[in-house]
Amino acid sequence: APKVIGLTGGIGSGKTTVARFIEEFGFPVYYSDDRAKAIVNESEDLKIKIKELLGDEAYDSNGLYDRKFVAEKVFNNKEQLQELNEIIHPAVRIDFEEWLKKQTKYLVFKETALLFELKLNRQCYKSLLVTAEDNIRAKRVMDRDGKTYREVEAVMEKQMPEKDKIKLADCIIYNNTNLEDLKEQTEQVIFDIE
Ligand code: ATP
Repeated sequence: APKVIGLTGGIGSGKTTVARFIEEFGFPVYYSDDRAKAIVNESEDLKIKIKELLGDEAYDSNGLYDRKFVAEKVFNNKEQLQELNEIIHPAVRIDFEEWLKKQTKYLVFKETALLFELKLNRQCYKSLLVTAEDNIRAKRVMDRDGKTYREVEAVMEKQMPEKDKIKLADCIIYNNTNLEDLKEQTEQVIFDIE
């Protein structure tokens, strides 16, 4: 079986950019967050469970998951968010296991925002954290999504503090400069993993 490296980072850290570089270097990446977004539309079983939890409005008139509605509904409802996660996370885990079976490279990467929060790092060979200063991350997300500083800050406040992630990570990429440097660090880290 391939070794699985858990790839993570907070909002705007650059983890998706690193994942794209990893693919350019020839290693497969499983995008947990993207797969989670797809699975809620693919699985009838999930649809039923999610509607039961959040109401029929969780899906729009075309039968598609209404991300905005759900996000607003659970944003300040910890219990409901947890219940939603208890529906989605096991489905993603199964989807990942199926993906993993098909892989032939000796090393594969699993991108998840919640690697440490969900203790998924325990099921990985190693963890790779992408981190950057809060103000730099905020600026990047403001530019990318047109969000306000306050909006980005609100998300950061709900995520595990960077200093805690740094303590837990096996490998760390500090993404405080430019994309060239980021790519170089990515190359170094992935070819150093043994
Ligand atoms: P999120 O969790 O919010 O999806 P992320 O960790 O996946 O974020 P990216 O989407 O990879 O982060 O990066 C955030 C934004 O910052 C993107 O627009 C990306 O192009 C840009 N970016 C990332 N790293 C750098 C860098 N070193 N220099 C310039 N721009 C960067």
